Amino acid sequence: EALSTLSITVVGASGDLAKKKIFPALFALYYEDCLPKNFIVFGYARTKLTDEELRNIISTTLTCRIDKRENCKDKMEQFLKRCFYHSGEYNSVENFAELDSKLKKKEAGKLSNRLFYLSIPPNIFVDVVRCASMKASSANGWTRVIVEKPFGRDSESSAELTRCLKKYLTEDQIFRIDHYLGKELVENLSVLRFSNLIFEPLWSRNYIRNVQFIFSEDFGTEGRGGYFDNYGIIRDIMQNHLLQILALFAMETPVSLDAEDIRNEKVKVLRSMKPLELEDVIIGQYKGHNKGGRAYPGYTDDSTVPKNSITPTFAAAALFINNARWDGVPFLMKAGKALHRKRCGLENPGQRSEFSSDTFQRNFGTDLDKATNELVLRVQPDEAIYLKINNKVPGLGMRLDRSDLNLLYRARFYDYPWQNKDFLPENAYLTGFNLKSKDNLLSETPYFLPRFSHCMNLRLRYPTEIPDAYERLLLDAIAGERRLFIRSDELDAAWSLFTPLLKELEAKKIAPELYPYGSRGPVGAHYLAAKYNVRWGDLGGEDD
Ligand code: NAP
Repeated sequence: EALSTLSITVVGASGDLAKKKIFPALFALYYEDCLPKNFIVFGYARTKLTDEELRNIISTTLTCRIDKRENCKDKMEQFLKRCFYHSGEYNSVENFAELDSKLKKKEAGKLSNRLFYLSIPPNIFVDVVRCASMKASSANGWTRVIVEKPFGRDSESSAELTRCLKKYLTEDQIFRIDHYLGKELVENLSVLRFSNLIFEPLWSRNYIRNVQFIFSEDFGTEGRGGYFDNYGIIRDIMQNHLLQILALFAMETPVSLDAEDIRNEKVKVLRSMKPLELEDVIIGQYKGHNKGGRAYPGYTDDSTVPKNSITPTFAAAALFINNARWDGVPFLMKAGKALHRKRCGLENPGQRSEFSSDTFQRNFGTDLDKATNELVLRVQPDEAIYLKINNKVPGLGMRLDRSDLNLLYRARFYDYPWQNKDFLPENAYLTGFNLKSKDNLLSETPYFLPRFSHCMNLRLRYPTEIPDAYERLLLDAIAGERRLFIRSDELDAAWSLFTPLLKELEAKKIAPELYPYGSRGPVGAHYLAAKYNVRWGDLGGEDD
């Protein structure tokens, strides 16, 4: 390791994603000692910045984990010293040659591995890959490129993008990122499924009545509709994030946990699916709405969106897998912006599966219709896995009720500031489920209880915070682990399912059903689910 260097170049370093996600993820990896001993980070973009200016910008977004504050400021300083900037055009071989000389100088003759992160709009992907591969590839180590979505807007444009990238790169140099695959609960889906004997035998049409993949945001495009309007919610969320989770959920057991074995199974299940048809899809667009004395704008009120836009901001779809395991089971997807759920104010995705459990069905009179089980994986926010079971209500009678076997991540795994002794006021005391200080209620969560052990100097088993998806993905790309990245045949299979539908929607200019900002979305989604005798779940969690 002492003889090699890792150089990470963030192309588009002046942008939002670089600032909010990529640099903070790199710092977290550095803090965790996950980066090689010799590494440097270069920002590259057109904006003119000095090294110092870049450092000032990114220093505002680096954070320390709650349980790892020790030396954090020193670590930040050390990290920032390894960050540099080069300003250049995206289609200039000369500018990339300049970057190459700067990289070589820092690499000081060691074996160099180079990772390029393309955090830029898709129309300049190929320019950058061309210039970087011609002038700034590693001469003696590996060169890898992380590409952000969108990977085209239909089968043809995606295939064209792949073809162009492959003029300069081999498939195993391309790391197509879908950051949902880096999310903790998505990673855990395979563990849950394959390492718990109680689930795998039920994981088929014999016991599962339907599976739902739900993504809802409680805000609209808010002035950033320019990019979105060209894509719409089906391309932005369904074709990639939700379909990826579906593939992991429905694939057959892979031969091993190697990247190629897992990706082979994902491709197989995607290729067993029927392309979507119009009758199994409903689309919607949010309209302006007044609520609680506040006016919420409609999608076409966004100044970056054309007034007559019919781009869907909501879609629901029923998909089917034609194989022995899943024949006839509806896989329902629902994705929308400006819906009623408000949780953390950021993305609110998740998915749930509903088991019909004939084995548990016994006639308890009026409660019979409740005799199903539901397994819910809430990906974000407030990660949780819970299983809805039928339970006898305590008492002399025989009444059933639904209860949750609940694995709430924040209760089980997270650390809170007040659990750190330095944060805990001296006069804090515990009454029932509440943690109080003299004047204040500090926490009224029952979740607090198991975590109280820390304050009592007992050992905590998982004193960690969940790493951001970008940390895991960057670490994997550095390690050459491709499991969580999208292979090109996988991408082709994903586009084949959606392209005919997307073309038909556009050719027929099908108008979306309007739904008020902040509502539960168009009623059409409920009719679509009802067609398959399904009701949408809500992923649980607390409402604000
Ligand atoms: P961004 O801020 O719009 O763009 C990143 C940088 O690219 C800008 O700072 C700008 O740098 C350069 N740029 C922007 N528009 C350009 C144009 N028309 N021609 C040439 N250069 C241009 O984008 P971002 O939010 O950071 O996202 C980066 C990429 O990740 C995008 O492709 C986006 O689709 C994808 N993505 C973003 C998110 C997210 O959360 N933001 C999530 C998933 C995927 P200079 O002007 O300094 O050259």
